[in-house]
Amino acid sequence: MPKFGNTSKEKRALLCNDLKRLVDEAIKEYDFSIVETHRGKAEQERAFNLGFSKAHFMQSAHNPCPAYAVDVYPYPTPKVQHNGVIELDSNSAEWDKMISVFKRKAQELGIKITCGIDFKSFKDKPHIELTDWKERVKKI
Ligand SMILES: [Zn+2]
Repeated sequence: MPKFGNTSKEKRALLCNDLKRLVDEAIKEYDFSIVETHRGKAEQERAFNLGFSKAHFMQSAHNPCPAYAVDVYPYPTPKVQHNGVIELDSNSAEWDKMISVFKRKAQELGIKITCGIDFKSFKDKPHIELTDWKERVKKI
């Protein structure tokens, strides 16, 4: 059975309880790495400036702590050679396999998630967030 490496464990610690439950169930069935959870102000603005995110600070479910969003990569990370350079393969079928495991587990656990793979304009395949995260932030 797959289990989290040390980096994933450290990132997992910054997740809200529902996302912890979800990643703990998903890892039993599909091996993945947790690459991002909580993102502070400087990191969020940096991600915006680099084009990895369309959100400013506190417009993203990654910003509250604990975080209401998690970015996950299939493990081993899908790679492709592009003009002689090895890079992340965002077209790999593994993304769909991984996200379908997350969707099924979320349903079993009664956790409502929104997946970046379903975003209309900006497909963010590694991204999973709680659908009601904005309401949850108001309650803090
Ligand atoms: Zn994300």
